Amino acid sequence: MEEKNLYPTICPYCSLGCGFFLEVKEGKVAGLSYMPGHPVNEGSLCPKGNASTEILTHPDRLLHPLQKTETSWKEIGWEEAMSLAATKMGSALKEYGPDALAFLGSAKCSNEENYLFQKIARLLGTNNVDNCARLCHASTLTGLGKSLGAGAMTNPLSDLENSDCIFVVGSNFAENHPVISRWILRAKERGAFVIVADPRRTPSTWLSDLFLRLRPGTDVALLNGMMHVIVSEGLQDREFIRKRTLGFERLEKILSEYAPEAASAITGVPAGDIIKAAREYAKANAAAILYSMGITQHISGTDNVIACSDLALICGQVRKKGAGIFPLRGQNNVQGACDMGALSEYFPGYGKVGDKEAAARLKKIWAAEKLSEKPGLTTAKMSEAAHAGKLKALYLLGEDPVNSHPDSLNVRKALEKLDFLVVQDIFMTDTAEYADLILPAAAWAEKEGSFTSTERRVQWVSRAIAPPGEAKADLEILQGFAEKLGLGLEYRDAGEVLAEISRAAPMYGGITKERLLQAYGVSWPCPESGHPGTPIMHTERFNTPDGLARLIPVEYRLPAESPEPAYPFLLTTGRTGLHYNGGSMSRRSSFLLEKEPELFVEINPSDAQTMKIEEGNNIILETRRGSTQAKARLTERVSRGVFFMPFHFSGTNMLTGDALDREAGIPEFKVSACRVRRV
Ligand code: SF4
Repeated sequence: MEEKNLYPTICPYCSLGCGFFLEVKEGKVAGLSYMPGHPVNEGSLCPKGNASTEILTHPDRLLHPLQKTETSWKEIGWEEAMSLAATKMGSALKEYGPDALAFLGSAKCSNEENYLFQKIARLLGTNNVDNCARLCHASTLTGLGKSLGAGAMTNPLSDLENSDCIFVVGSNFAENHPVISRWILRAKERGAFVIVADPRRTPSTWLSDLFLRLRPGTDVALLNGMMHVIVSEGLQDREFIRKRTLGFERLEKILSEYAPEAASAITGVPAGDIIKAAREYAKANAAAILYSMGITQHISGTDNVIACSDLALICGQVRKKGAGIFPLRGQNNVQGACDMGALSEYFPGYGKVGDKEAAARLKKIWAAEKLSEKPGLTTAKMSEAAHAGKLKALYLLGEDPVNSHPDSLNVRKALEKLDFLVVQDIFMTDTAEYADLILPAAAWAEKEGSFTSTERRVQWVSRAIAPPGEAKADLEILQGFAEKLGLGLEYRDAGEVLAEISRAAPMYGGITKERLLQAYGVSWPCPESGHPGTPIMHTERFNTPDGLARLIPVEYRLPAESPEPAYPFLLTTGRTGLHYNGGSMSRRSSFLLEKEPELFVEINPSDAQTMKIEEGNNIILETRRGSTQAKARLTERVSRGVFFMPFHFSGTNMLTGDALDREAGIPEFKVSACRVRRV
């Protein structure tokens, strides 16, 4: 009898990059075992991590390339599938030009796969390439990019243990990134003060010493209010501001409008609590700000992130142990997909599209004659272009926009307008129903490659088992497609792609497969071989050209929608601990589905009483975009007038709107005016 083999791997769900071992027996997954030495999770896994192997053996896995027929789907071979994809994309290119094509990469796919994907798009002459970071943390890239010169987490997650004050804003980490609770609890045991600002009372607020229940979309007013207190009480770090930042005078000027009483009138948070939060944060030896999609998914997402950064900078709460800014990303490779340039405005390593020097570097590495200088379409703009008849062919890598993009009825109509849609995924999805061609892909444990976690830790995943049926690794599929288009792109394996990445993206300069195989990965920036990696960024200088951080004044703005007589309530959406993104993976886990089987909506009991809604009633929520049915959950978690719905089930994003942050292009998922009625 063959023994079990253990393969080190990382969790395919959220961005923390928790490690564990896959147990493989006779070529099949036999279970998982924990990895106590892993520096992020120390052996623990949340329910999603524990359930992750279920997707590998699920009977719904796509096994063959499928071509749409008049009435159904027919199985075709890989040769035919690759020819079809290349012919259709190639003819759209020839007839309408490169910008009639678009490519949507995947934060579930590896760095190498995203790198190759965007390279194909750019070699075909378009920057119409994006990934789902546009929907969750594009405002981190723009906000921290403008402020610090790098849109990334400043310190490792485990460093939260060293914080004396942890300010959590717009993140229900205890449910959605639960493994980091360990670091926060350890800080609390040392006496750290924890502040949580959120419109909802969540398990994360149970860990707080001070809960600031703010109105949805008022984060800038809260942050400016805290900074007003800090500056008016002289608690700012004057020396740090003088030596390491620019722009304090302009910031100080606008803060005068955000006295605690004024901030309280906007946010609904008592002025005394704003003052207390400000003093605790500013006086701490080391204070951390931890945020997530509660602040990024707004039309003011970039401003919200900048305000967090301003707060940290005026207090000198960066560049040292226990202090820093911790954006908690969504999917397991959001950071990596962005680093790889699967973004319409950035090349690999964040060279700006349109920047001649960045383009020249890349052209040399790729031996390309020409690269488009025009920034491409973001995900939202791809929909608009399809509606306008300008976008003709779309290649989707492991994403399900019908469930994960806002205003999903509109997304469906956009997909119908395309001449050709290719979907490459591990499961059939609501989006794949619209495809002309479906390509069956390998899941994470069935292929090799690197993934970059939210703390910039680049880790290698080795192939543990073979993909089912005729499914192939995404890298192999993309190479086959590129070959049919005459682009070449021959690489022996993912390691060889990573070697090219290390030349194209300077912060990966010293990262190789061999190095990543050694132990628990490397944190970028790692500019050359022998460099140890950089767990804490900005210790000596920021990533701006002059090394100084920018203090940028931002003003509170109303969300795109406010309650009005026809839609008198506010709907906010978010994650639960048991599901993930659009649910294409987590809703296929019997373990997770049994515990959280269907779409629900949280309603304050007082609102429910007024509308005669009882626990468990089926109710219909309506916004200007559409309506959907959900089970009522009566709870004080939400305030009066505010409803909460998770976005892991079909239906939620029929309600959300597509108003965008003007810099980051991120939609305002977090605020929609709505009404409700009983079924
Ligand atoms: Fe996976 Fe995230 Fe859970 Fe860790 S916290 S086990 S990475 S889903």
